[in-house]
Amino acid sequence: LFGSARKVIAGGVSSDARRSAGTPLYVDHAAGSRLWDVDGNSYLDYVLGQGPSVLGHCPPEVVGAVADQAGRGMSYAAQHRLEIEVAERLCSMVPSAELVRFNSVGSEAVHGALRLARGHTGRPKVLKFEGHYHGWFDPVLYSLHPALDQAGSADAPVPVPGTLGQPPSAEGDLVVVRWNDLDALKATMAEHRGELAAVIMEPILCNSGAILPSPGYLEGVRDLCDEHGTLLIFDEVITGFRVAPGGAQELLGVTPDLATFGKAMAGGMQASALVGRAAVMETIASGKVGHAGTFNSHPVAMAAANATLTILDEQRDALYGRLETNGRRLMAGLREAAAAAGIPLLVDGVGAAFQTYFTEATEVRDYRDFAGIDRALAARFHAELQDRGVNIVPRGLWLLSTAHTEDDIEETLRAVTAALAAL
Ligand code: PMP
Repeated sequence: LFGSARKVIAGGVSSDARRSAGTPLYVDHAAGSRLWDVDGNSYLDYVLGQGPSVLGHCPPEVVGAVADQAGRGMSYAAQHRLEIEVAERLCSMVPSAELVRFNSVGSEAVHGALRLARGHTGRPKVLKFEGHYHGWFDPVLYSLHPALDQAGSADAPVPVPGTLGQPPSAEGDLVVVRWNDLDALKATMAEHRGELAAVIMEPILCNSGAILPSPGYLEGVRDLCDEHGTLLIFDEVITGFRVAPGGAQELLGVTPDLATFGKAMAGGMQASALVGRAAVMETIASGKVGHAGTFNSHPVAMAAANATLTILDEQRDALYGRLETNGRRLMAGLREAAAAAGIPLLVDGVGAAFQTYFTEATEVRDYRDFAGIDRALAARFHAELQDRGVNIVPRGLWLLSTAHTEDDIEETLRAVTAALAAL
């Protein structure tokens, strides 16, 4: 199939982020915690569409809601009841959500948040952090510290999108700082005093490892933003509805001014949301800041989001408990298997999203720590696992779904032991 694909799809794959995966997986179908490839092989899936399928693949309630809505109309470009129900659900689940606007994908929600921040504050610059990914639109794609930037290289520690073709102007208003370092942030914010519209971050970093903020860091960032009149944006496209019902902001107890959601929000369909404080969101409501999109609050995606969020909200204790317990069991099992094999492996993150790093280090606190990680070994581990029916994000990220069972975890750990032995 790869041969046929290369004749009609550039590179034979649909996204450059797949570049590091070796032989691409061509999926035939998926259900629950598994997917099946076109050759009939099955895989326990810890990629989950890069996060969306938090309830597992094809949860019946979501499939039913999608089918039902598809028969009632797929594109309205008019208001409808479902979008209000989803917005109500977001406002009750997410601490920072007082008002909502919908888009289709995470990159768009981020674009809307940055535009709103600039429009609302009247300031030109945005500050982001090394290694944090906020989608592939120009203004935030300059992702990394220049010294670490290996854009376009298959050897890049994270799938850094190539930047060739971006307008140079995009870089001009972007300030990039080391994460988890309050002194660095303080100094940089002082340097750009009065010019920073927003500070944007992944509140739990999931796109370069899976890294929690250091104790007190988010509180410190919140205080600095207040001091400077700069809006704090949490990009929860990957953490939202995954690490807790109200995202990382609920888990960690720090509330941003604006937040973006996507991925897990619609259980596998494409819907994203920009949420935030009413006083800021009113600038969008007034029409002074533009917000557009043919597929915004798409009825079928909203039906999927409504079904997904209803389940996650109403069964929150059971479902988030299961994600955490199964994830922690898997993390502990990985550590045990690596120790038994005599291979240094650091396993870190939260149950619902964690990372395995081949390193002697005992912690990874930011993107610069990637220098000491054996990425070649990680790539081989990924391939060995895939050969044994376990699918993880190639760089070593594991995402759990509520469909994963204890038996799945045990089956995965048997594959892990065999894969480590093969290394
Ligand atoms: N922000 C974060 C934190 C993400 O993880 C992603 C996707 N990996 C995006 C934004 C972009 O979302 P999308 O790919 O849906 O445009």
